[in-house]
Amino acid sequence: MIPPSFDYYAPTSVKEAIGLLQKHGPDAMILSGGMSLLPLMKLRLTSPGYLVDINRIPGLDYIKEEGGFLRIGALIRESDLEKSELVRAKYPILVDTTAVVGDPLVRNRATLAGNLAHGDPANDHPATMLAVGGELVAVGPKGERKIPITDFFTGLFDTALEHGEILTEVRIPIPPPRSGGAYFKLERKVGDFATAAVAAQLTLGANDVCERIGIGLTNVGPTPIKAKRAEEALRGKKIDGEAIKRAAQLASEESEPKEDLRGSEAYKRDLVRVLAGRAISRALERARGGK
Ligand SMILES: Cc1cc2nc3c(=O)[nH]c(=O)nc-3n(C[C@H](O)[C@H](O)[C@H](O)COP(=O)(O)OP(=O)(O)OC[C@H]3O[C@@H](n4cnc5c(N)ncnc54)[C@H](O)[C@@H]3O)c2cc1C
Repeated sequence: MIPPSFDYYAPTSVKEAIGLLQKHGPDAMILSGGMSLLPLMKLRLTSPGYLVDINRIPGLDYIKEEGGFLRIGALIRESDLEKSELVRAKYPILVDTTAVVGDPLVRNRATLAGNLAHGDPANDHPATMLAVGGELVAVGPKGERKIPITDFFTGLFDTALEHGEILTEVRIPIPPPRSGGAYFKLERKVGDFATAAVAAQLTLGANDVCERIGIGLTNVGPTPIKAKRAEEALRGKKIDGEAIKRAAQLASEESEPKEDLRGSEAYKRDLVRVLAGRAISRALERARGGK
């Protein structure tokens, strides 16, 4: 289907983009990679009167470590993350995640920032950002603000972003030594959204005690879920097979799946249990220096 007509703008600065969003109000939408927005427009599920294309704004396409964070600019695509040597060397959970987003054509366009801003609980990056404890930088008419990822997903396709705000940077705390993370997803076929998926990121301290743990769940609730009880079961403890089993069970209990074409509620809950066990185990292996 062809979308209804719209006016198109290609601003060359964040300030200009914010001005356009303000001028046209809620009828204006930000266009980034277009991998979620354009299908919605073609299906006429959304019909913005104005598109503010941010792709020509310079200076938003960086991946760098600075000030204790991995900083990822808003125009970094999935394929940039896949190719980044820094990401491949130090952020395997991000590599796991980006590798299972759609297919190569999607990954060439889709941005990490857009993946989060879309607020879709089926998207893969939100759970990973919850696991790593990410932070987002948004710039709007009132200036810049930082949003902890735990405050970002406010409802189904709803986020803490206000109209006129642009997500300019995604921040991941640089993991201390003896950290590891992993993302496990089950999809019906390559390129599909997750039936369920689990992200886990942990840091080991003295005597292999788990100092920090984050666990995020994909597509098993109206928003991405932070599995707090599962995290609590591991924090401050030595992680062994029994502890992983218990945490995986808790993660399953914290999920809120609904039956749909991808499976029944019970099936998805059990899937969370299995995937959580795998994600925590792999994160632990990686924290101990494994691949
Ligand atoms: C065939 C196909 C398969 C897919 N499979 C997956 C999958 O397996 N896993 C997955 O996670 N996703 C998948 N997606 C969805 C898509 O990849 C993501 O949602 C995408 O990353 C969105 O980013 P984008 O840059 O394309 O955003 P766009 O489509 O341009 O925008 C999406 C929304 O976010 C807003 N937005 C975008 N950037 C910003 C910004 N910087 N600041 C504020 N608001 C912004 C837009 O206004 C819009 O509302 C798939 C898409 C397709 C077409």
